[in-house]
Amino acid sequence: MNILVLNSGSSSLKFQVMDVEITESGECAADYLAEGIIESIGSYAQITYHVTGQPKTRLNEPVKNHEIGIDKVLRWLISPGSQIKGIQSYADIHAVGHRVVHGGEMFVESIIIDDKVKSGIEKCMDLAPLHNPANLKGIEAVTKLLGTKTPQVAVFDTAFHATLPEEAYLYGLPYQFYRRYKIRRYGFHGNSHRYIAYKYRKINQIPREQTNIISVHLGNGCSACSIQAGISVDTSMGFTPLDGLVMGTRSGDTDASILHYLHRKEGLNFDDMDNLLNKRSGLLGISGLTSDMRELLDEVAEHDDRRAKLAIDIFCRNVRKYIAAYYVEAEGNVDAIVFTGGIGENSAEIRRRICEPLKSIGLDLDNDKNNQGLSVQDYQKISTDHSKLAAWAIPTDEEYIIAVDTIRQVNKHIEAE
Ligand code: ADP
Repeated sequence: MNILVLNSGSSSLKFQVMDVEITESGECAADYLAEGIIESIGSYAQITYHVTGQPKTRLNEPVKNHEIGIDKVLRWLISPGSQIKGIQSYADIHAVGHRVVHGGEMFVESIIIDDKVKSGIEKCMDLAPLHNPANLKGIEAVTKLLGTKTPQVAVFDTAFHATLPEEAYLYGLPYQFYRRYKIRRYGFHGNSHRYIAYKYRKINQIPREQTNIISVHLGNGCSACSIQAGISVDTSMGFTPLDGLVMGTRSGDTDASILHYLHRKEGLNFDDMDNLLNKRSGLLGISGLTSDMRELLDEVAEHDDRRAKLAIDIFCRNVRKYIAAYYVEAEGNVDAIVFTGGIGENSAEIRRRICEPLKSIGLDLDNDKNNQGLSVQDYQKISTDHSKLAAWAIPTDEEYIIAVDTIRQVNKHIEAE
């Protein structure tokens, strides 16, 4: 089945096309056919199209909205110029999987999209005012362009964390706010952490029930997830993706009273604060230079910049605090720490800074393997063989999870009919 995976952001649209097959043993095999991204939707957009094995095509064109963007992508997919194996017409796109950021408490697993699901996603808009409206726009555009016969599946970023126990998802706030408004930890990056749990157990050939790891996704957004017996039992992002680890431009954990104090000192209103915490904090805010980890590491190496070093130190310390907390909470029943995301996959230096002090809980880093990283194979164990607690770098693949869930839901739907 050819699956189109769509990730509609507030001003961007990422896509991937995969030919996914479920084998007789229930395993999923995916052939990655093409991918691309449209950035700066709403004005003059930058478009990148990439057919696997071919050079990338880059264009600059006006793209007014998501519908026009998706129309462009669909036309490109079937155009003779793109030459994508097995895709000549819209009928060759058998289903569409959408990344939907927030499923609230309503959606605890992926689901075929119908009117009821759309209105459910709309109800969750309140919880993710930047993301869910864009996701819904993507769904509506596909319905309009491909018709209702092409099945669409919603795959939620929050769903993997639906297994969090109450004591992990409730904040220390008056309980009535949970009852009234569902204020709680939802957690995000769920498809990434779920992929890491899946990939780790495949590499190590262990069953899901024996998958006890801490998955650390470090990209522009960062989150940690404690996975016990294959399910998420705690995670660092919370009611929104602002909570938890220090990120590229997001603060992570802060004392909420600082907001009141800043309001008094600088007259900031709620929108200003939201902007401050989401867009001007984290690595960018601390360093005063950049949110990009690679650039910060270069600044330290070339100019020994104090604030760049400070930003990196705070970042690493914070990740370690979460790892240690989850390790203790799991009573040491953790086999491995797994690093993923742009920083986690690519930066041996950051992995080293995080891991070296974790010797106290039995992590013995193998410096050679850590430095080798993913240069030799597409995943790497970075701890020594005698290390009590292992560490790995494994690239994430959220699109794989979305494609697989899409085919599974579509098959379930066909069987039920
Ligand atoms: P997103 O969360 O937007 O998907 P990514 O997962 O692509 O982001 O991660 C982007 C971050 O990864 C940036 O801070 C970038 O500097 C960092 N990064 C990518 N490659 C490296 C590298 N080799 N060393 C250090 N940081 C890196």
